[in-house]
Amino acid sequence: MVKPIDLRSDTVTTPTPAMRRAMAEAEVGDDVYGEDPTVRRLEERAAQLMGKEAALLFPSGTMANQAAILTHTQRGQEVLAEARSHVYGSEAGGMAVLAGCQPRLFYAPDGVPRPEDIEALLRPDDEHYPPTSLLCLENTHNMAGGTVIPVDRMQALAAAARRHGLAVHLDGARIFNAAVALGVDARDLAAPADSVMFSLSKGLGAPIGSMLCGSGEFIARARRWRKLLGGGMRQAGVIAAAGLVALDEMIHRLADDHANARRLAEGLADLPPLQVDLDLVQTNIVMCDVSAVAPAPEFSRRLAEAGVLALDVDRRRVRFVTHKDVNRDDIDRALAVIAGLVRGPVRA
Ligand SMILES: *Cc1c(COP(=O)(O)O)cnc(C)c1O
Repeated sequence: MVKPIDLRSDTVTTPTPAMRRAMAEAEVGDDVYGEDPTVRRLEERAAQLMGKEAALLFPSGTMANQAAILTHTQRGQEVLAEARSHVYGSEAGGMAVLAGCQPRLFYAPDGVPRPEDIEALLRPDDEHYPPTSLLCLENTHNMAGGTVIPVDRMQALAAAARRHGLAVHLDGARIFNAAVALGVDARDLAAPADSVMFSLSKGLGAPIGSMLCGSGEFIARARRWRKLLGGGMRQAGVIAAAGLVALDEMIHRLADDHANARRLAEGLADLPPLQVDLDLVQTNIVMCDVSAVAPAPEFSRRLAEAGVLALDVDRRRVRFVTHKDVNRDDIDRALAVIAGLVRGPVRA
């Protein structure tokens, strides 16, 4: 059987030969005792890339986001988040279960919130209201289609939050995609936030790992939450070694993924009745409304049978994500399969 073209997510990427070599040769120690030199190097590197004092390695982005929320908040407080954000919708209700916080949502159609969206939700100090303590931002915004919040908007949002005494956490799972798309330093996107999480295991291709970055004091407190959550790992240098290769070698090539996403999006837009909003295709994610052909779950099932894997994210939309393990030819082959599916039956 031919290997399917897997466009479900950039999490499906497998480690490069250089990562496997680095993992095999990694110098390690017990990281719960702070004795793993490779983890320490990765944490220093991550902090420096984000322009923060300190960083902490986590096994997943979900755990890092939840540890950040636990560190920033107290039980009974309210957290502002976008309606389709990962921290709210894709982390199994963690902010309620773990931090005892209540999410309060705003909606940004293109994934780029406005300071007014935040300010509209803030209430006076009154015993009826849960105190609002944290704003969570997501850059790039996954479910809005990988859209990018520019630096000046990040600054304006953080300034609005601070005026009202809120801390700011940035879910930057794909912050390097945002930085590459904008042609800015990731540090400039992270600077307005108190804390930032980014993933090593998505477009950067490492097998495991996410980093949480912030002030030294913040990271020291987050370290205890990581332990509580079961994320204190021992010879984690084996993981960190791949993360260092990811940061050294895999950031600049994200531009190729963006070019492939653009090619895919333009090809899909040429296949009515499929609908793609090309303005929202800014990085490595393409959201396609397939509902005029079939409900999204059925569309993605038929696509899978024809050798192309994509993710139905709701009843109408299928998500395609480009990454290092699919090239331009794969995109063209995927488009041919999709064209066949839209126009009539095909086999890959
Ligand atoms: C993938 C993702 C996460 C969580 O990462 P995991 O490592 O899968 O837990 C958090 N936020 C966003 C926006 C993501 O896309």
